[in-house]
Amino acid sequence: MALPKFAYFKGEIVPYSEAKVGVLTHALNYGTAAFAGLRGYWNADEKQLFIFRPHEHFKRLLNSAKILCMQTDHTTESLTEITKELIRKEAYREDIYIRPLMYKADEKIGVKLHGLKDELSIVAIPFGLYVANDTNAHVTVSSWRRVDDTAIPARGKIAGAYANSALIKTDAERAGFDEALVLTGEGHVSEGSAMNLFMLRDGVLVTPPVTENILEGITRRSVLELTSRELGVPVEERLIDRTEVYICDELFMTGTAAQITAVTRVDYRPVGSGVMGPIAARLRELFNDVVRGKAPAYRDWVEPVY
Ligand code: PMP
Repeated sequence: MALPKFAYFKGEIVPYSEAKVGVLTHALNYGTAAFAGLRGYWNADEKQLFIFRPHEHFKRLLNSAKILCMQTDHTTESLTEITKELIRKEAYREDIYIRPLMYKADEKIGVKLHGLKDELSIVAIPFGLYVANDTNAHVTVSSWRRVDDTAIPARGKIAGAYANSALIKTDAERAGFDEALVLTGEGHVSEGSAMNLFMLRDGVLVTPPVTENILEGITRRSVLELTSRELGVPVEERLIDRTEVYICDELFMTGTAAQITAVTRVDYRPVGSGVMGPIAARLRELFNDVVRGKAPAYRDWVEPVY
């Protein structure tokens, strides 16, 4: 993966090689950082790069920062402006991934959240597919459980919590799967390692509610809206049992990196007919138009950079 040329670091855009932290940095030692992950999509016809729903992503980042007792004067507007400036400096004319990070910057020992200095960095890199088999993923049910809101809140995009996601993803890949679904402590399906989950059952698109230890995905929210408004398919947020994903008609995962990834097998059982279903296929087409600014009704979901 190519490194970026620049980074927003300590209040200014600097060469990426200068955006460095010391090994004692609090966030590096204790996972006390909150991050975001956005995509920018290149539209070749308009020669324009569109950032997908930056205000929603930055609102979630500010909420995650609040959970970690961080102080900041930034707003979703200021963060969007900095991001646009950074991308213009990189002069990207391709699909990209943007990684803002708010972190506890003190270089000292001591596990706590308060009384520490908070910093912000942002970088952007060229980016393609995250899940290689995004039309026919084979997933397993992880033996790990999802972090609970009473331990590390999953609704915050908190760096330390991603040790949980990394355990889930590595075991899944080493066992030959593309991804894994993870259950809550109570045994309901919550999400994937870094993506939300949807299943189609009896004509209803179902996804776990935000109180099931999921990250409150921006793609999830967008898919819920697109499904009911554009496809006329009813949506429901409710608990999902493990065995429901074995017998449902369609299954797919959503996320900024994963976009809309169709799942066609769960633990060696075919989902529906064993190929990507019509709802996932239609949503993928729609989503691709929306994120590239090609759907007039959803033009306010994308922010032009140039
Ligand atoms: N769940 C987790 C744990 C994630 O890391 C992500 C990726 N940000 C998602 C779900 C999907 O969220 P979004 O659609 O906002 O990228």
